[in-house]
Order: sequence, then C-alpha cells, then structure tokens
Amino acid sequence: MSIAAPSPFAAVVIGGGISGLACAYRLQQAGIPARVLEAGARPGGLIATKEKDGFQFELGPQSFLSNEPLLQLIESLGLNEQLQHADRRAPRYILSGGKLVRAPLAPQSLLTTPLLGATTKWKIFTEMTKHTVPPDGDESVAGFVRRKFGDELLEKFVAPFVSGVYAGDPEKLSLRASFPKLYEFEKEYGSVMKGAMKSRDTKGKPRAGLCSFRGGMETLPRAIAGRLGELLLTESSVNSLQRGKANGKPWFEIEFTRGNHREMIAANAVIVATPTDAAGGMLRQLSGEFPGAFARIEYAPVAVVSAGYRREQVQHPVSGFGFLVPRSEKLRVLGTVWNSSLFAGRCPDGKVSFTSFAGGATDPGLLDLKDEEIVELICGEVAGVLGISGAPAIARVQRYARALPQYNLGHSGNVAALSGLAASVPGLFLAGNYLSGPSIGACVEQANLTADAARVYLASIGATGAGAVAHA
Ligand SMILES: Cc1cc2nc3c(=O)[nH]c(=O)nc-3n(C[C@H](O)[C@H](O)[C@H](O)COP(=O)(O)OP(=O)(O)OC[C@H]3O[C@@H](n4cnc5c(N)ncnc54)[C@H](O)[C@@H]3O)c2cc1C
Repeated sequence: MSIAAPSPFAAVVIGGGISGLACAYRLQQAGIPARVLEAGARPGGLIATKEKDGFQFELGPQSFLSNEPLLQLIESLGLNEQLQHADRRAPRYILSGGKLVRAPLAPQSLLTTPLLGATTKWKIFTEMTKHTVPPDGDESVAGFVRRKFGDELLEKFVAPFVSGVYAGDPEKLSLRASFPKLYEFEKEYGSVMKGAMKSRDTKGKPRAGLCSFRGGMETLPRAIAGRLGELLLTESSVNSLQRGKANGKPWFEIEFTRGNHREMIAANAVIVATPTDAAGGMLRQLSGEFPGAFARIEYAPVAVVSAGYRREQVQHPVSGFGFLVPRSEKLRVLGTVWNSSLFAGRCPDGKVSFTSFAGGATDPGLLDLKDEEIVELICGEVAGVLGISGAPAIARVQRYARALPQYNLGHSGNVAALSGLAASVPGLFLAGNYLSGPSIGACVEQANLTADAARVYLASIGATGAGAVAHA
C-alpha cells in the first residue's frame, strides 16, 4: 500500500483518550491541526458517563483533582460553568472490624484516629525526630511504610488507599514512581511527616479540590472533541507505522483500519497516546525493541459496579466521599464512592447511587466471574456495610481487563528505556497514563509537555501540514 500524492499532516495523534485529546487540542491551540485516530466509537477512552432511568453513572474515573493544567484546559474549553466541586470536608471512611471509621486526612489526625493502635501512633509521632535516608535502590510502597511506621499503618490505611488510586499491590508498587512526593519528603527532610506538614503550608495557593461536571466526566473529552471537529476520526484503529521521507522531510506512514477499510495517512510527527499493548504492536516496524519495552509495564484489571437504591433502603446516612476496605476485612470489594452525596444531579429525588470497585492487582481472579455474579457479590458486600435492604433499583458492571498501569518496582527505569527508544525515532512522541501518573490531571500535564515537544520538533524541520488520506 502506498500514498499516491503525499501531503502529510504535521502531526497525527493516535488514541482519543484524555491524553491524546489534550495533546491534539494543545497543538491546535498552537496553530497545528493534528489528526486524531481513535479506535473506539466515541472519544474519551476510560472516561465514560452513562445515563439510565435518571441515574448518571461514571464507568471509569468518578471525579478528578483540579491541578493547574487541568483547570486551564477547562477554562479554555469554556467549561467553568459546568464544573462541580465536591465539599472539601466530605468525610472518607475506612472499614475496620465491619464498621466504617472516619479516615484521617491530615497528617496530624493519624495521631488521633481510632484506626491505629498506640504503638503505630508512637512511631508516627517520633518519625519526625528520626532522620532517615531512602535506600539507593527502588523500594516498594509496602517496604517503605513497614520500614518507617510498621505493618499496622500499611494494612489499615496505606494498602486500601493504594488500591483506591492504582488498584495496585503495595508489595509491588514502587514508592519512587507511584508516590514520588513521599520519596522526596524523606530525601529532603529525613522525615515524611515533616515533609507532609511543610507541603500543607502553601499560604495563598488554592489546594486542588475534587471536581466533576454537571453532565458527568465525559463532558471534558466531548468538549475537546467538539473543538477538534473533523480532525478526530473515531473507529479508526492504527495497525502500524513506518518511516519515510518526502520533499526532504522525514515523515511517518500510518496504516489504520476504519470500518472495513484499510487506510493510510502521513504525518511529520506522531504522538502515540494509546495503552502500552497497542503502542508496542503498532511501533514494532520502527524498532523490534518496542513491544518488549512496553510489555514490561503491567496493568491491573478492575470491575466497576454501579448501583442505585431508594433512599429508604439504606440505613447508613451515606454522606461523604465513600469508603475503602482493607484486605483484612475479608471482603472482595476494594472501595465504594457515594456518587449521589458527592455531586448533585447523579440520581432521581429520593434515590442514592454508589460505584464500587473490585479486582485490582491483589484480586485479578474476580474478573473470571460472570457479570451477574460480580453484581450479586459486590452489591451484597456493600449492602452488609451500609445496612441496605432489598435489591438495587438499577445495577450494572463495567469490566476492564487492563484498567490501570502499575507503577511497579523498576517502573522509572522502564519509562526511561521507553523514552530513550522513542527519542531514537525523530518525530515520535509518547503520551499516556503510564508515564507520569494515572490521574486525569497528570495525563493532561504530560499531554501538554508532549505536545510542546512535538511543536518544537515540527518547527525544527519546518513542517506544516494539511493532510491526505489514501485508500488501500
Ligand atoms: C476504573 C477506573 C477509575 C479511575 N478513577 C479515576 C479517578 O477517579 N480520577 C482520576 O483522575 N483518574 C482515574 N482513573 C484514571 C484515568 O481515568 C486514566 O488514567 C485516564 O483516563 C487515561 O487516559 P489516557 O488517554 O492516557 O488512556 P485511555 O483513556 O485508555 O485512552 C487511550 C485510547 O487509545 C485508544 N486506542 C487503543 N488502541 C488504539 C489503536 N490501535 N488505534 C487508535 N486508538 C487506539 C483507545 O480506544 C482509547 O480511547 C481511573 C481509571 C479507571 C480504569
């Protein structure tokens, strides 16, 4: 297959999740129209909102922390009016001995929480006086917490929190890669508590808060897609990339399948913003090392169970963020978000809605169950915790075989190797949630950096492009 009259796009972005969309939008803002090729039928990737019978469920991320790049993006898209802010004081709970106990949110409340015994509290209290240095090699989150504070803090607080963010296994997650701030606190202050206290001292600087949109999380990718207009092609799955040269400028030939057709597009710069398995496959022809390097990044599977009830079915006041479940409670649900308490408009009057998470790196076998078995198991466990009587008015499950990349031991090295490989192919750039954090804010921040690097590259080769597609 070849392109008859090559007229390349300056840039093509592969993958229309938030990473790819934010990247393409940033380029568009800089005057570079970038074609986006998205395999799925709609933009947004993991961000997906579903409305049914007056309920609004989030199938992926439930909310986001408002970091600066994300707020700038929201403002630039004219979405400020639609933004919803969760109450900063909304309590979070941890299940302990079958009861929900308020989770300590500020470092000093670790010293008063009933979740922890006197020995752990003493370790936390005296940690400020014991100057330590991080080990030279990569250390697991579990290893770090045990070394500094002991097993109880790990089991009762850190492990459930880690499953809430990464669906991860603290024995495998790298502290440096997954919670870089904690590593930096020890490195800089010799004490995590000291570092945590100092970092709260950001006078005048607004703290990031938990947000969503009136129309749900999908409002964000939809708005970007609206700005990109015809530049975004859905149901366009990229198969391979090859290098070429036209008019003295290096370029890529990108082969993709759209509907039943194989098509080709050319671009001077390519930004790959897909999950790692897809990225490894499509880049194989550029370097045989790509598939193996991408495959080093593991993913955890997750089942997301959304459920709605009549208010009177639920004994617990369900006012707050929701709860996390330590493994020692012997339940398979990892945690539950109380959507209808967190943001207005999530369900009809007189109803409540929840989203629970199960599976993750510590219980991947959960996804072997059938959908109805998962709903029954998870809704049954949540009913026990919240005192719910009767069946849910509505319930659904969303499965992700590869939900979240795991920032496991060696992750920083794996990412450095991938970045090195990508840098050896001029014009090739990477974006995505496996690079510098899985949160939506981190994805947008990374996407901006990637777009800026692509812009500098395009300027360096003097490329501007309108684009052409050749049918096979
Ligand atoms: C269950 C769950 C809960 C989460 N909760 C939160 C939360 O509360 N807050 C938060 O900030 N973050 C949360 N996250 C993380 C966050 O949602 C993701 O990290 C982020 O949305 C990833 O965006 P992305 O664009 O990097 O990847 P993706 O969203 O995976 O997008 C990649 C895109 O590439 C496309 N693609 C794949 N192969 C090809 C191909 N060959 N050709 C073309 N396109 C292709 C895919 O179809 C997809 O649209 C959660 C994630 C999950 C799974």
